[in-house]
Amino acid sequence: MADQHLLRKLPKVDDIISHQAVQQLLKEIGRETLLEVTRETINDLRSNILNSEPGTVNEGLVDINETVKTIENKVRRINEMQIQKVVNGTGVILHTNLGRAPLGAYTQDILQSIAGGYSNLELDMTTGKRGSRYQHMKELLLNLTGAEDAIVVNNNAGAVLLVLSAIAKGKEVIISRGELVEIGGSFRVPEVMEQSGAKLVEVGATNKCYPKDYENAITEDTGALLKVHRSNFKLIGFTRDTSFEELMQISEKKGFPVINDLGSGLFIDLQPYSYPYEPTVQEVVASGCDIVTFSGDKLLGGTQAGIIVGKKKWIQKIASHPLTRALRVDKLTLSALEATLKKYLQPEKAISEIPVLKMMTVSHAELDKKAETFRDILPERLNGLNISVEKSYSQVGGGSFPGHQMESRVIAFRGNPEEATKLERFLRTEKPAVMGRLSEGAYFLDVRTLFESDLSIIVKRLNDWSQRSDNY
Ligand SMILES: *Cc1c(COP(=O)(O)O)cnc(C)c1O
Repeated sequence: MADQHLLRKLPKVDDIISHQAVQQLLKEIGRETLLEVTRETINDLRSNILNSEPGTVNEGLVDINETVKTIENKVRRINEMQIQKVVNGTGVILHTNLGRAPLGAYTQDILQSIAGGYSNLELDMTTGKRGSRYQHMKELLLNLTGAEDAIVVNNNAGAVLLVLSAIAKGKEVIISRGELVEIGGSFRVPEVMEQSGAKLVEVGATNKCYPKDYENAITEDTGALLKVHRSNFKLIGFTRDTSFEELMQISEKKGFPVINDLGSGLFIDLQPYSYPYEPTVQEVVASGCDIVTFSGDKLLGGTQAGIIVGKKKWIQKIASHPLTRALRVDKLTLSALEATLKKYLQPEKAISEIPVLKMMTVSHAELDKKAETFRDILPERLNGLNISVEKSYSQVGGGSFPGHQMESRVIAFRGNPEEATKLERFLRTEKPAVMGRLSEGAYFLDVRTLFESDLSIIVKRLNDWSQRSDNY
């Protein structure tokens, strides 16, 4: 039995709505939503009382002023943008949880002008007739990759699903066992294959797959050979991979295509910047690969998208599949991607102006300079934590260059594990949020992924922290 007298004392909707503070809320939110929030709040109170042992519920719970406060907080939360800026001090450049690639200033300008008005998204300006939204990007992609044709869809997982659906539905697709990967927890090659209606034919062993493994698996029902780039893990030791060149030789004259899911979308060889070898899109296209897919927001450094390039014959088949419409990109994606891709016409500009590439190739001297700017502004000690600049390592993330570590500089907060934990929580939960790394009792902010404009935010947040740490 619940506390009946408390249930009777529950504030009434009308009383709450006519409360002066709640009336004020009507300036911030519509009446219907306010009523909804009010009813929901009273219902929560009622459930709370019904689910509690009699005598355990505080009388204050049904106080109208308390209820009004709850409603005020709820309205404030509803009005606040839930998706918000986060300062990335993790050192992970392509952090999927933090929105992967940040876009450059030029892309932001383009987005602003396109987003707020009309555009020629599906208009052919020369004829004044309906055009294709894919046309704008096409020439640029063909120039950059050397491919015969190209199309852009919502993301790379969608691109792979679309390609398999359009090319290999009801047919067999041969793939090495070592490439049946899971990416980002929700993209598993076997599952995507099943969705597409293609039949998975696994060949080879996890660590070894020879050309003859593919050859032996070819039947009349073979629809494609699929190569999935192991973008988020490394296979080391006793291994043998079949290269896409070898796959090309196998498929030659057989009539079915080789599909290469590259994932990362690298356009510039980064070996001169001490990165390991990773095939570029141009290289794979030049090798004659029929269909190549990759993400727009990984190493390419653009917005979320799935880019498909390759031989005209196949791309046209893909473009006319009904799923293409379901996976289509909007004007914001297309304009952001076009602006990013334009930078690649001058590779040195791409390196210096696309934030992802810039962060990946920044020199130690520049990192030192960035770190010193912090050291000059921050105190040496804060709430029992010593602040200093240290050498550390950052990662590319987003499943790119797995295992590769780049020497970086971090602002280290050491000397009191409990305080470091509190600091991490404080910076993460208050706005604007700052994300760092908590490791072995210390807190770290990697300067590689910090923008200059983040500096003042961090200084301010640390200042707040020095005054409010007791609450955390
Ligand atoms: C990242 C990745 C995907 C998924 O791409 P999204 O753009 O995140 O959908 C698929 N395949 C490979 C090899 C990848 O690396």
